[in-house]
Amino acid sequence: MSQHTMRDSTRLDLVPLKTAYKDVGDSPAYERRFHVMAKPGGAKCNIDCQYCFYLHKEDLLHQPKQPKMDDETLEAFIKSYIESQDGEEIVFSWQGGEPTLLGIDYYRKIVELQKKYQPQGVRIENDLQTNGLLLNDEWCEFLAQHSFLVGLSIDGPEDMHNRYRVTRSGKPTFHLVMHAVEKLKHYGVPFNALVVVNRHNVKHPLELYRFLTKELGVTYIQFNPCVEPSDFKTTAPQFWNDNMIPKVGSELTKPGHPMSVVTEWSVDADDWGEFLKAVFEEWVNNDLGRVLVNLFETAVAQVMGKPAQLCITAEFCGKGLAIEHNGDVFSCDHYVYPEYKLANVKEKALNEMAFSIRQQAFGMAKRDALPKYCKSCPYLKLCWGECPKNRLIRTPDGELGLNYLCPGIKAFFDYSLPMLTGLSVLLQREKTTSR
Ligand code: SF4
Ligand code: SF4
Repeated sequence: MSQHTMRDSTRLDLVPLKTAYKDVGDSPAYERRFHVMAKPGGAKCNIDCQYCFYLHKEDLLHQPKQPKMDDETLEAFIKSYIESQDGEEIVFSWQGGEPTLLGIDYYRKIVELQKKYQPQGVRIENDLQTNGLLLNDEWCEFLAQHSFLVGLSIDGPEDMHNRYRVTRSGKPTFHLVMHAVEKLKHYGVPFNALVVVNRHNVKHPLELYRFLTKELGVTYIQFNPCVEPSDFKTTAPQFWNDNMIPKVGSELTKPGHPMSVVTEWSVDADDWGEFLKAVFEEWVNNDLGRVLVNLFETAVAQVMGKPAQLCITAEFCGKGLAIEHNGDVFSCDHYVYPEYKLANVKEKALNEMAFSIRQQAFGMAKRDALPKYCKSCPYLKLCWGECPKNRLIRTPDGELGLNYLCPGIKAFFDYSLPMLTGLSVLLQREKTTSR
């Protein structure tokens, strides 16, 4: 997902991660920085996770059997992306589907093309989001040599991971991911855990969190709540049938209900709140400054009055585009639907697309389309209505556009705000005394 990694907030001497947003201080919300999630192999994957939000793009976008960004498109993308950025660091993110299916030579070519267009004094970094199944010695050697940061999908210990992350023939994948973890560690490739929190593993917050931090030794975790509208395979966000949208609290918002607005593997909103509370408490007590949890880092930063570190909790979004294997560019990784196609990279420069009126309107709508209920919410500046793709329920008075996760988000902030405020005071003090 277009949720970018972060820089320091709970500890002042943290090494900033590669895709970190810059601390832009007083600069305008629309600074000239954007990110593109590249899917050079389309939606093709070697496993068949039940909850995958991307596999069905094969049908939706009429992708070929073996989608692959051809040389001309790849070069056009790399060139345009580099030329569109004016910072001292450019971060490429490779994702899918499963991006390793294209083979190491494909990525060797990518690195060569990046060198060809790399301006003097600019660093180029790469992220690879993978299920890890193909990560053998050769891959890990390559990733280490070229300093790739790996985002490894793992949903918890064996039973939790194997619940939804299975092969096409329904076989478990946990042992293969653990094999990848060993290889990554052996070759010193830095990796983050990308965890999809679904209806099942959400019930085991501490077991899940401790597995990641204690058994795997992971120090950066991205929790991504699984929220999939029941018609997500065919209907783009905000194109839902208004008549079918239930009010917050209704039975129809519950995963597992036959008429639910979400798939049965989606996380329950109340469970999400309980999950965040339990993990937050564990994190504050044991891992503050040692383990980075995407949602907590940004919460601390935002309570301190700093910019959001994740698009989902920011006032505006629209700075995280996605490019498909054929060069088509979309407003966001979660908006890869024909309705949200911006243009093709062979026809238009990426920065023209990123700063087009249309894309700016997309990003501004994150704030402007908020229902009154959110505008008067005490947590507005910490939440900003979360991701628009999840705004698929109604407020208590029937207004459209409320986030499905709202009850959980509120419960989390009800519980954590005093601690977040305390942390923010401590960090400010630490900052002042270290000057
Ligand atoms: S729609 Fe906006 S908030 Fe949601 S993932 Fe995309 S960029 Fe982030
Ligand atoms: S917590 Fe709920 S009401 Fe408050 S801003 Fe977030 S989504 Fe809106």
